[in-house]
Amino acid sequence: MKKAISILALSILVSLPVSAAKYDYGLEAKKIGVDTYLFLGKKEDFSFQNGGNIVNTGFIVTSSGVVVIDTGSSKRYGEQMLAEIRKQADKPVYKVINTHHHPDHFLGNQSFKPAPIAALKGTVKDIKSSGEMFSENLYRMTGDWMRGTEAVVPDVTLQPGAEEIGGHQIEYIELSGHTGSDLAVFDRTTGVLFAGDLVFYNRTLTTPHAIPEKWFVALDRLSKLPFKVLVPGHGEPVTDLSAIEQTRDYLRWLVETLDSAANKGQSMNEVMQEKIPARFANLALVKSEFNRSVVHLFPAVEKKTLHRAN
Ligand SMILES: [Zn+2]
Repeated sequence: MKKAISILALSILVSLPVSAAKYDYGLEAKKIGVDTYLFLGKKEDFSFQNGGNIVNTGFIVTSSGVVVIDTGSSKRYGEQMLAEIRKQADKPVYKVINTHHHPDHFLGNQSFKPAPIAALKGTVKDIKSSGEMFSENLYRMTGDWMRGTEAVVPDVTLQPGAEEIGGHQIEYIELSGHTGSDLAVFDRTTGVLFAGDLVFYNRTLTTPHAIPEKWFVALDRLSKLPFKVLVPGHGEPVTDLSAIEQTRDYLRWLVETLDSAANKGQSMNEVMQEKIPARFANLALVKSEFNRSVVHLFPAVEKKTLHRAN
């Protein structure tokens, strides 16, 4: 019996990917601009296999210290990110910034303490109210990758506008649409724009807290910035408008599809049968995210349509 159990345990261990077994995210800092680095996440959903490494995070090395943009999905992610940052910079972390309150963007915060952790007012409020719940959810989805993770609420409320940090002119741009509070971080000195989840690239956008009409306004604003490199929240960085345009194109199709379904009086299940246009076929997770978006957004669209009809 004992032997049977140990063989079973061994076969479970062998079947796990090596990185999952060692809880190693395999983070590699990729240089994307002067003094600026990116950790590129997988274009996947949360799973035990990826441990939650599905998000882009980054950092800027300034003469005053390192500015960290988003901290990943767990305490382990934050620790491993910090270890990789140490390989590129021997300066302390000057400031950590959370772009919005989604768990893959802030649950690594605790590994950066005592550095100040900053976010927009609305993001601080949302992390305070939903942080623990997000952390429990991720524990269910990724298991022991989350060990020891606590939701650490940012302790600095970020004011929109420009700040000079160690030779970099950094602009904090307050927007919304992906959530009620979205921050874009634009380094005017290097031309690198961290767009957070206002921009997705080759990975279908997510909408649990989306406000589409505000999201369009945010995309217009971002498209006017003179960036050299744009880092989306998910997907590869780009040097042109392609990621913004793809995000806008899909969001517009999504909104129009939901509007027209509501006008036809279709049910949620019927909307989910809608054919996804060929131009979105290369977006990772398009079918599952479309279905989720129907669940998130369709009830409000239906309500608005009914209201108009009455
Ligand atoms: Zn998000």
